Amino acid sequence: MKCNLCGGQVVDREVSYTIEFKERLHIIEHVPARECLQCGERLYSPKTIEKIQKAIWQSRKPDRYIETPVIDYVSIG
Ligand SMILES: [Zn+2]
Repeated sequence: MKCNLCGGQVVDREVSYTIEFKERLHIIEHVPARECLQCGERLYSPKTIEKIQKAIWQSRKPDRYIETPVIDYVSIG
C-alpha cells in the first residue's frame, strides 16, 4: 500500500493516539494504524476511531496515568 500524500511505503504499526478532551490530554496506547514511512501520515480504520471516541466520551477509567512535561514555545525563544 502507498501513501496518498507522498506515495511512500505504508506499514501496519501500533501507535499512541493523542487527543484532547475536556481540556485534558488523553493518550490511547497500542492503537493499530497504518503509517507512512516517508512522511509519517497515519491512517486509522473507522472502527478504530469509533472505539477511541467511545472510550473518551464515556470517560473510561484510564489503565494508567503518566506525568507529561509541558514546554511553552515562547520560553524557548
Ligand atoms: Zn506519506
